Amino acid sequence: MEILIEQIKEEGLVFEFEKSAAAFPVLAEMVAGGECEFPVPIRTALRAIRVGDMIEIEGDIETAVRLPCSRCLQPFETPLKSRFALTYQRRTTDGIEDTEPQEVELSAADMGIVYFQGEKIDLIDPIQEQVVMEYPLRGLCKPDCKGLCPKCGADLNADLCDCDRSPPPGKFAVLKNLKLDK
Ligand SMILES: [Zn+2]
Ligand SMILES: [Zn+2]
Repeated sequence: MEILIEQIKEEGLVFEFEKSAAAFPVLAEMVAGGECEFPVPIRTALRAIRVGDMIEIEGDIETAVRLPCSRCLQPFETPLKSRFALTYQRRTTDGIEDTEPQEVELSAADMGIVYFQGEKIDLIDPIQEQVVMEYPLRGLCKPDCKGLCPKCGADLNADLCDCDRSPPPGKFAVLKNLKLDK
C-alpha cells in the first residue's frame, strides 16, 4: 500500500485497492482485542496529484464494522465511510529539520501536511487513522434500541421482564412538592 512518487505523472494518478483489516496494524489489534470485526475488506479509492513540490492525495474509504451495540451489547454491522485529503511534502534530508523550531512542525500538522522521505508514500497509517476516526464510539444496533434491563440484564428488545423499571422518586418529586406548597 504505497505510492511510488514516480508513478504520479502530470495528469495525476488514480487508483483503487482493497485490503483486509489484517493489513493494518491498528485495526488488526482492535480485532485481536475482541473490540470489533471487519466483515468486508477496507476499500480505498485514491487520487494523487503533484502541486509544485508537494503531493496532494484525496481518498475515499469504505468498509463495514461489526461491533457490540453500546446499549444492548448485541453485535451489529454498520457501514463505515470516510473521505480525506492530505498534503505530502518531502522532508529534506540535509539536516535542516534538526534546527526547525517545534512550532513549524505543529502548524504544518494543523494544515494537514505530512512529511515523507524517499521515493514513496506509505498509505497504511493515513487509512487506518481514518477508519479509527470514523469508528462508531456509541454505536447502536438500531436508533431506538431499548437496551438491557438495569435490574435483571434482560435484552429489552427481545424479552420483557417483570422488573419495576420506573425511575425511583427523587429530586423531581421533591421539587413538585415544593411548588405545590406555594
Ligand atoms: Zn442494541
Ligand atoms: Zn428486568
